[in-house]
Amino acid sequence: MAPIHLMDLSSDRIKEFLDSFDHVFSDCDGVLWTKTPLPGVGSFFDLMKRHGKTVHFVSNNSLRTKENYESMFQAAGIPNGFENLTVPSIAIAEYLKSIKMEKSVYCVTCPETIAVLTSYGFKCEQGPDVGTYYYTDYIQYLSDDEEIGAVVFDSDFKINLPKMYRALTYLQRPEVHYINGATDKYVPLVPGSLALGVGAFADIVSEESKREPVLLGKPGKMLGQLAMQRAGVTDPSRVLFIGDMIEQDVGLGRATGFKTLLVLTNKTKEEMLNHKTLQPDYYADSLGSLIPVLNSK
Ligand SMILES: [Mg+2]
Repeated sequence: MAPIHLMDLSSDRIKEFLDSFDHVFSDCDGVLWTKTPLPGVGSFFDLMKRHGKTVHFVSNNSLRTKENYESMFQAAGIPNGFENLTVPSIAIAEYLKSIKMEKSVYCVTCPETIAVLTSYGFKCEQGPDVGTYYYTDYIQYLSDDEEIGAVVFDSDFKINLPKMYRALTYLQRPEVHYINGATDKYVPLVPGSLALGVGAFADIVSEESKREPVLLGKPGKMLGQLAMQRAGVTDPSRVLFIGDMIEQDVGLGRATGFKTLLVLTNKTKEEMLNHKTLQPDYYADSLGSLIPVLNSK
């Protein structure tokens, strides 16, 4: 079915829309804020709560510290945002806990993800952050370390050949767990410009190691399921997932069985309509734009 513009709905249909879900799960970057909070987001979530919805957040961004997230939620006028947030770093830590990982974890990730894993008690290995020009120096990255029990990729803008060599070396042992968090192939850095994300490199490692990663970032279903579990939600069809990215957000919503709302803060209506496989159920210009419509209810 073609995506429905919420602004086009009659008052009765808006009520039907509101009655069709009990929980709102929202992406953060591009939906709540860009560099600064987007207008009206605090009021939007207040309205959702007044309509009896629970409010939770699911972001692929493990790069922010807890303090940074807390100050962003506060600036956006959203109380207890961080307490209700699920990000890949937390999903990875919970997963490693569930499989009782006792060996070291080789992290091709940002320092914030390592901090989260360390806070859960996991031993982390990382680096090197810089390679050399002497190719023979790279031999050291081809020797296995039996102490490594898992290889984790999450946002890492310092990814390089030595890290890929190390990851591929460890992944030759089938018992080594292979986990991907936020491995977006592209990142929205400058509109209209092509910026590769760590996913482009993780894909090479997956292909060369012939290993399928456990995907704990959007659009992986497991992240949606973990967010549900943390929110105490059992029926995915009663969740409205809000996002600004088609592959990650609409993709996660579709994989998990959520209803989806795309805000056109990062994508144009044409990009949305031209997408071959993923269409949201609903769309709107922004969350702030919906306040007059929802206020009338
Ligand atoms: Mg986003």
